[in-house]
Amino acid sequence: MTEFVVTGLKNALERFEAACKRRPQELSSILPRLVAVSKTKPNELVIAAYEAGQRHFGENYVQELNQKGNDPEILLKCPDIRWHFIGRLQRNKIPKVINTPNLFMVETVDSARLATALHDAWGKFGKEPLRVMVQVNTSAEEAKGGLIPEEAPDLVSHLLEKCPNLKFAGLMTIGQYGYDLSRGPNPDFQVLIKCRQNVCQKLGLNMEEVELSMGMSDDFEHAIEVGSTNVRVGSSIFGAREYKPKSPTPP
Ligand SMILES: *Cc1c(COP(=O)(O)O)cnc(C)c1O
Repeated sequence: MTEFVVTGLKNALERFEAACKRRPQELSSILPRLVAVSKTKPNELVIAAYEAGQRHFGENYVQELNQKGNDPEILLKCPDIRWHFIGRLQRNKIPKVINTPNLFMVETVDSARLATALHDAWGKFGKEPLRVMVQVNTSAEEAKGGLIPEEAPDLVSHLLEKCPNLKFAGLMTIGQYGYDLSRGPNPDFQVLIKCRQNVCQKLGLNMEEVELSMGMSDDFEHAIEVGSTNVRVGSSIFGAREYKPKSPTPP
């Protein structure tokens, strides 16, 4: 019973492609990609989406990324899969993340210490540099990861100067949930766009080479319209997530 994923993916792709046509002309150099966020969903749904043509997948728990990425059936049936890590990363979990075959990008680097540790660990692999994004906390919510926008240029500079095993790919944000788009453009996306401007100005980078990862199920079309190049879409493709209730605290 995996047909619903094929339908979910098809619908999301239609919306995705329609939104791409509404992008501002000056943003057209980087074509957006759709990352299917498969967290909490079983391997068979990943395989079904892959067989329907999807290649980029996202996970936000280290353990789950590592398990799915190393699963023999996924390895066999999805040889060209590309994993994005989109969750909080602690330095002691870096080995688990990089021991994921077909890891394409880590989107959540938010400190120089983490960047250096990832750089050191990836260096021992001796492969192409690993793509990373800098996560920016655009909504100033304590519960969300990411550095404040003003700190982004220094971290990007650190990545460029000190971390040759990593390839700086762009900026990522989660932003506040449930923003009502009838109030106008999502301010978190605007903060990330400004942040890119600032980073590029300070470091002399070309804006067309710095991606923006923003937009999820509820707002990915809007995100694309304002310049997102990487949307992370979960429930629209795979259906709502069910989390196991927490075990009751002992008396
Ligand atoms: C879960 C998750 C998503 C996808 O959320 P949906 O609302 O299901 O599309 C996107 N980005 C991150 C960082 C996530 O953890």
